[in-house]
Amino acid sequence: MGMRIGIVGGGPAGAYAAWQAAEQGHDVTFFDHRAPWEKPCGGGITVKAQDEFPWIGEIESQSRAVTEFRFRSPTDLEVEFGCPRPTLIFARAEFDEAVRSRARAAGAKQLGLKVQSVERGRGGWLVDAQGERFEVDFLVGADGAVSKVRETVAPEFPAFVNSIAAGFFIPARLDTVETKFFSDARGYLWFFPRPDHLSVGLCLWGGEAGGSAGRETRQRLLDLLATYYPNLDPGLGKGYGAFIPTIMNPACWRVPRGGGDWALVGDAGGFVDAITGEGIFYALRSARAWSRALAAGRPEAYDRQWRAEFGDELAKASALVHRFYHPRFIERVIGFGSKSQSVRRLLSDLVMGTQPYVTLRRRLQREIVRGAARRMTRFLGPAAAIR
Ligand SMILES: Cc1cc2nc3c(=O)[nH]c(=O)nc-3n(C[C@H](O)[C@H](O)[C@H](O)COP(=O)(O)OP(=O)(O)OC[C@H]3O[C@@H](n4cnc5c(N)ncnc54)[C@H](O)[C@@H]3O)c2cc1C
Repeated sequence: MGMRIGIVGGGPAGAYAAWQAAEQGHDVTFFDHRAPWEKPCGGGITVKAQDEFPWIGEIESQSRAVTEFRFRSPTDLEVEFGCPRPTLIFARAEFDEAVRSRARAAGAKQLGLKVQSVERGRGGWLVDAQGERFEVDFLVGADGAVSKVRETVAPEFPAFVNSIAAGFFIPARLDTVETKFFSDARGYLWFFPRPDHLSVGLCLWGGEAGGSAGRETRQRLLDLLATYYPNLDPGLGKGYGAFIPTIMNPACWRVPRGGGDWALVGDAGGFVDAITGEGIFYALRSARAWSRALAAGRPEAYDRQWRAEFGDELAKASALVHRFYHPRFIERVIGFGSKSQSVRRLLSDLVMGTQPYVTLRRRLQREIVRGAARRMTRFLGPAAAIR
């Protein structure tokens, strides 16, 4: 038997980490008091995620496959475009359970307990969960955006702002993903069609946690729905509020996400694309980076591993997010997109996740007509890579 590994959280990050570590023969326990549950989330899985994790194809039939997108600018210019391959939109209860069932099949033990505290013990970690105590050699924090484990293992983690999202799951049908941007706030309103309902949400980047921000976001969402989609009745659906870790402070990327006997994966490590809010892909990728370091017998190398695999791309997203959500930039991109096929192709690649941010500027300069490219790249000036 290998190490005793305790994983706090059974979302995509924790469950995937549990699956991979159990396959390597370790003695894995993962804790999640809520699972199975419908985590507040759009549930969109990009093409790049499907390509990196081919097993997602095995559960594709549980999703809604969508190829048509409509973006609406702050002044209500519109661009519609199709993608050659679909984004898969899942109910999170089903997606996460698919990962957890693979973890259990590989031999990981799932416990429906809430972890109340973790502390260092003699040669390992003590995990306290609802009156029970567990001793493990290695601790993985996969407990989401408001991570308790992170507070213990990485107290020096600089403050970062969780974006605030409010949403509804509404019984309604739509065939297009719709997105609306604003002039007075960074973020967007989204409509994601799922197999038997619609996931509607508003995420505002960098809102203040707690206080009135959640209520204000929800009210703004209700006002937007009344203005743009008066036929949708949010009263028929189930509402939620949630956080997305949105790292805009570059110092956050320098902080280690792992050490000799601990690791942070998924939202707990802040692994979310600061521009789009895509986090499922990075939850899986960070868990896989950790499991690769583990397989090499050097779990302490995880911090180098994730940086090498996707650190630059996430840091680039953080560096660009203010410019991306500049209302004039969005207005221009959507305005040009309504006239230019090459801009629509670029939007489609961004949505599919097949256009990295690190080469975006070069592509704009290469492919998009010169005047338009200049007016867009002005907003995307060089941003420091952070390692
Ligand atoms: C409104 C919204 C929309 C989003 N839309 C998308 C999208 O369309 N596509 C996309 O890719 N990403 C999206 N995201 C981001 C995505 O939801 C997250 O990045 C992703 O869920 C991260 O996975 P995770 O496993 O790290 O964390 P989570 O999915 O949050 O899982 C953490 C788990 O830990 C458990 N947990 C927490 N504390 C404890 C404890 N003390 N003890 C035991 N268990 C605990 C929780 O119950 C939970 O199941 C969205 C996020 C939000 C909020």
